Amino acid sequence: MICTLCPRRCGAERQEESGQGFCRMGTRAVVARAAPHLWEEPCISGSRGSGTVFFSGCPLGCAYCQNHSISHERQGRRMTDAELADVIRDLEQTGVHNISFVTGTHFVPAILNALKCYRPAVPMVWNTGGYETLDTLRMLEGTVDIYLPDLKHVSPRLGKVLCAAPDYFEVASAAILEMLRQTGKPVYDENGIMLRGTVIRHLVLPGCTGDSIRVLNWIAENTPKDTPVSIMRQYTPIPECTIKGMDRRITDAEYDRVVEHALDLGLNALTQEKEAAEACYIPDFNLR
Ligand code: SF4
Repeated sequence: MICTLCPRRCGAERQEESGQGFCRMGTRAVVARAAPHLWEEPCISGSRGSGTVFFSGCPLGCAYCQNHSISHERQGRRMTDAELADVIRDLEQTGVHNISFVTGTHFVPAILNALKCYRPAVPMVWNTGGYETLDTLRMLEGTVDIYLPDLKHVSPRLGKVLCAAPDYFEVASAAILEMLRQTGKPVYDENGIMLRGTVIRHLVLPGCTGDSIRVLNWIAENTPKDTPVSIMRQYTPIPECTIKGMDRRITDAEYDRVVEHALDLGLNALTQEKEAAEACYIPDFNLR
């Protein structure tokens, strides 16, 4: 295929097992891990976990990515659509609250084909860095029940330096409005587990609280008040990222400043205890 699935719109030739685009991936899904995951927001993970399928490769490719081994080094197992359907079925049978596709943008056709082979009864979650085209999101309409997009930063300079995507905010903000249009208001079951909706995530980055505040201001001005906004504090420096200032965790003061601003704006903010953020682990990407 000639690929324009993500906003890079490389127009690159992709074969089943190889690709020449920015993401370097072929069209067959490559999966690094599929397992229940207990570290998402409580309305997503609940007590039984979210059935997460981590895809390898990434069209955004943030320099500080916490899942570097799969997003940049593209570790994982290549599988047919039918094999991916089996993975989804097996995960559902563990009793998870939902099936969550993590960074699946570059494999949308394969994922939709797998769901034609087997469609689970639990909600489908689309966990994304937010860098999505409206065309690709419309391919997911009617399939995805819950969107879990990041909104990382507003500044084109940060987009350029951190993700080689100066248009990140322009693209991601439009994508989030499309996600909200598709899902409508959040719907929860009697235990507070989300059945439908959009949760916007924002990871506070070291030295970037001024930009975090611009992110929150945009959310307050452009999204419904009941939209959950998850403010995350678990940024962990990785040796592969040598960008100045990205070599430390955030301070308590930085996190508190962002959370206080969210509360001042009246956002439906989900916050993280420091201990919980430190306990959040980077999973073992060994295709268990
Ligand atoms: S999904 Fe990959 S090949 Fe396709 S446009 Fe994006 S980066 Fe390029």
